[in-house]
Amino acid sequence: MAPTLAVFKLASCDGCQLTLLDCEDELLALAGEVDITHFLEASSAVAPGPYDLSLVEGSVTTAEDAERIRAIRAASRHLVTIGACATAGGIQALRNFADVDEYRRVVYAHPEYVATLATSTPVSAHVDVDFELRGCPIDRRQLIEVITAFLAGRKPDVPDHSVCFE
Ligand code: SF4
Repeated sequence: MAPTLAVFKLASCDGCQLTLLDCEDELLALAGEVDITHFLEASSAVAPGPYDLSLVEGSVTTAEDAERIRAIRAASRHLVTIGACATAGGIQALRNFADVDEYRRVVYAHPEYVATLATSTPVSAHVDVDFELRGCPIDRRQLIEVITAFLAGRKPDVPDHSVCFE
């Protein structure tokens, strides 16, 4: 049976998932070797897991995000975070240095309906992460290297920093 690959999104702009979709040729080659069982950006198929490799884009900004990432971790043999949002909190982490309630009042007509945490935090602040792929967005060749390495059971050959210096 082919190993399963899942892709999840928390608070993010989808840019890193689009990098994965941009890897058309490589994905076609990979498609014969993996079973992509959860990737809402590209397919309506949503399998409950377990997953051999989960890629997670986005930061944790709501209580629901925190609950989801714990469930994703529990369902994943390997968990890799992709992009600055997932590895460092992203641009939305600017809230960490401000009054999030004031932002809510200024931006929303009915702030009482908006539930959010006071901070935006990386996935690693909530669960164990097997590898962090940095960048905003991530580099497509590095992404393919990370996926290929995990499926082959070896360490990814990717530098500690890539597009962004975090
Ligand atoms: Fe978008 Fe950058 Fe976050 Fe990726 S890291 S989801 S490109 S904001």
